[in-house]
This record gives sequence, structure tokens and C-alpha cells, in this order.
Amino acid sequence: MEMKDLVSFAVAKGFVYQGSEIYGGLANAWDYGPNGALLKENLKNLWIKHFVQKRSDMVLLDAAILMNPQTWVTSGHVGGFSDPLMDCKSCKQRLRADKLVEEYVEATGDAEMPAEWAGESTPAANLTAYIAKKGIKCPNCGGTDFSDIKKFNLMFKTFQGVTEDSTATVYLRPETAQGIFVNFSNVVRTSRKKVPFGIAQVGKAFRNEITPKNFIFRTREFEQMEIEFFCEPESIAPGKHLEWHEAWKTVCWNFLTKTVGLKEDLMRFRNHGPDELSFYSAATTDIEFYFPFGWGELWGIADRTDYDLSAHMKESKADLAYFDPFTNQKYVPFVIEPSLGLNRLMLVTLISAYDEVDSGEGKRVVLRFKPEVAPVKVAVLPLVKKLSEEAKKVYDLLSDHFVCEYDDAGAIGKRYYRMDEIGVPFSICVDSENFEAGQVTVRDRDTGLQETVKMDDLVEYFRKKGC
Ligand code: ATP
Repeated sequence: MEMKDLVSFAVAKGFVYQGSEIYGGLANAWDYGPNGALLKENLKNLWIKHFVQKRSDMVLLDAAILMNPQTWVTSGHVGGFSDPLMDCKSCKQRLRADKLVEEYVEATGDAEMPAEWAGESTPAANLTAYIAKKGIKCPNCGGTDFSDIKKFNLMFKTFQGVTEDSTATVYLRPETAQGIFVNFSNVVRTSRKKVPFGIAQVGKAFRNEITPKNFIFRTREFEQMEIEFFCEPESIAPGKHLEWHEAWKTVCWNFLTKTVGLKEDLMRFRNHGPDELSFYSAATTDIEFYFPFGWGELWGIADRTDYDLSAHMKESKADLAYFDPFTNQKYVPFVIEPSLGLNRLMLVTLISAYDEVDSGEGKRVVLRFKPEVAPVKVAVLPLVKKLSEEAKKVYDLLSDHFVCEYDDAGAIGKRYYRMDEIGVPFSICVDSENFEAGQVTVRDRDTGLQETVKMDDLVEYFRKKGC
């Protein structure tokens, strides 16, 4: 599938619209339409259910987007959160030098790379030298004449209050994680959770990405679902944090494959090599997904040691050390950070669910969402228009429990297909004979099979199916 086909499909079916479209849009801003908004909400709720509700060792937090600017100095974002940029002198395209190199290495499997490569922190001079040595071309025009590499900070700045001077400068958070770290002792004090335990948060993050692209894969405004899982440090329990890192890899993988229902053959783990790891990280693994443009990061799972808590402790002078009532020891916990983009998760859910079937009259699309994920769970369709009153009764009964869609326009077969296209797992056909007998026919999207179900049992029936 090509990305452009997915974009047209997603726009046509009300999943995603171009942001501020009537004004010609805003580069890389997307709005979520009726089906997209529900799909995103379902994924978020599933994540909260899986990682917070079902686990006694996790709690939820909702920190502010605007934080004391010192937070971002301490976290290293003010000093170091920048991308290496260069311009192609022929076509003026702005490029990320690190991504250009990454793509070249991915395509050619060039073995020289590790010697010069240090992930995001590769010095600009190394990137320049490598690009020149290999004759890497501008992906836009094929040119090889580039400007010097400049570092560009990715944080959005704004002003708090009425003055526009630097004392009032605040940043839109570039990640949700720091809101968790600065609240660590608040949560310990008020939730009575004991290490090992985790704090989860869902919320907007903003990055002034230089090369936002690939639809909703990389945008300037996006939502993150992040977990900070605090565990015993190396000094207290040697190697334990690495075990937790391994355990979280499996937990995250299973969430994607079993709960969300992604296709496993489109996913892989990628461990960061020693030269790619951040200096404070003991281990980092990405779960990657095979997007129409190739492999890309979906979920980063990082062992961040005690770097963040220690840095905040030092800067703020607040005592963020944890007193362990089991061992009577005080320590700064290590942390495992599984960090997932909600919009990226929605994108891969769409890609994974997308299927085309030949119905005899040409190809039609079926989105094979799991019922738990599907934006609309049940379609209520009167066999003929004059049964609309009866069908509305069924709709009223079910819409108390599930998001339903009502449709009485056109032939029943066409209406089934319309529902398949937006991934509705079950469609109810209301006909007079069955309705009088207190029952309806339920059609399964994936098998096409129909089942007669008593109206009194309908809610339970759909619940059992995962709606
Ligand atoms: P990339 O290398 O793709 O820029 P990253 O390593 O900077 O990503 P993290 O800082 O680890 O990403 O962010 C965690 C997760 O947040 C990513 O795995 C991704 O799912 C999501 N994410 C990050 N940046 C964006 C973005 N600009 N748009 C959408 N989702 C994003």
C-alpha cells in the first residue's frame, strides 16, 4: 500500500482531515474526523485499561503542558534537543543530515557506519564527512552540494502573561515524561505505591520537527502515551533494571499484537547499539513497524537509569530519593520508559487493519479492526426504509452501551459494504418478521455470516464479542 492511497482513504472515510483546510491548510497539521477521533480515543482507553486499570503497580497522571522552563534546562532539552539540519543548495530542500545518513545505511547496509555513527548525538563534522565520502544525494533533486550543518532546537517557545520578554518564556512540552519525573514524590506520597511501580500519562507533546512527513507519522503536534516504571537501582539490585527492561519489551509487544491486534509480521524489535545509546541509557529497544515508506519507530523502550530523577534532584534541590520500607534503604530509583505515540499507533492500526477484497464488482476495502478498537461497534440497518421506527428502537437500545451507526439509505448489501469500509465489526439488519418475534439478524464483518439474536440478549452478545 502506498502512503498516498492510505491518506486519500483516511480522508474520504472521515478518519483524518487536513488541518484548517478551508484556509489552505497548515503544513503537517491534521484534524481527526468522526471515525479517527473515536479510533484514537479507543486506542488511548485500551492503553489506560491495559497499563493502569489492570495493573496494581501502575497509576495515571495528567500533568500540565506548560511547565516551569527550568524543567527543560534540567532535562537537557534546552541545550541539546536539536536536529542537525542542512540545505540542498540546488533545490533548497531542508534536510535532516542524520536521517539522510540513516536512510543511506538502511538502503545499502554500509558496514563502515558504526565507526562514525553515534545516533542522535553524532557530531555534525562526522555527518558531513560521511555524506561527502559516500556521495549521498539529495532525495529531492539528486544534488550533492549541501550547506553546512546547523543545529536547530525543536522546542516550541511561547510567552506566559502579557510581556514578551525572556522572563516569561515558556515551552510547549516536547514530551510528557518530564511531567512524571517532577511529580515523582507527589505520587509516592499520595498513592502509597512502592517501588517497583509505574506512572502512566497520555497527553499532547509538541516538536518543531524540521522534516515532518509521512502523514501522521511525524507531526509537530502529537500525543504521547508514556510510562515511567521505577525500579531498584543497580546499586541495590544489580541487573534488576535490565530484567525489567526485558519484561517491558514483552509487555509492550503483547499489547500491540494481542490487545490492539496488529499484524506481527509487520513488526520487529530493534536494539540500539552501544554507539547509538544516549550516554545515560543502559539499554534501549524500539519496536518498529513496517510502514509504506519502510521500517520506522513505533514505540521506544528505554532504560534511563536514574538520570532524570537525579538531574531534577540536583537542580531543584528537592529530595526525590525514595525510602524503601522493605529494605530500609534510601535510593534514587532507576526507570524504564516505554514511550508510544498515539497518532503513530493509530496509523499502524489503520495500516494493519486495511484489507482489500474482490466482491465480484471490483475491489472494496474492509478495515479488519478488532471490536475493541473499532470506532463504530454496531451498525443498525433497517431492511427497508419503512422499518426505520423499529430500527431506531434497536439503535436506542444499543447506543446506550456502544457507539452505533444508523443507515437506511440504499440497498442493504451496499450498506454492509459501507460499514465494512470503516471497520464496523457487526451490522444488524432489522426486518419485520424477526422484529415481531423480538429478534434481529447480526452480520459478522469478517465472515459475512449472519446470526439471529434475541433483542434482550443483544447487549450481552456484543459485550462478549469485545465491543
Ligand atoms: P524519531 O526518531 O522518530 O524522531 P524519537 O526517538 O525522537 O522519534 P521519542 O522521543 O522516543 O521519539 O518519542 C517517543 C515516541 O513518540 C516515538 O516512538 C513516537 O511514537 C512518538 N513520536 C515522537 N515524535 C513524534 C512526532 N513528531 N510525531 C508523532 N509521533 C511522535
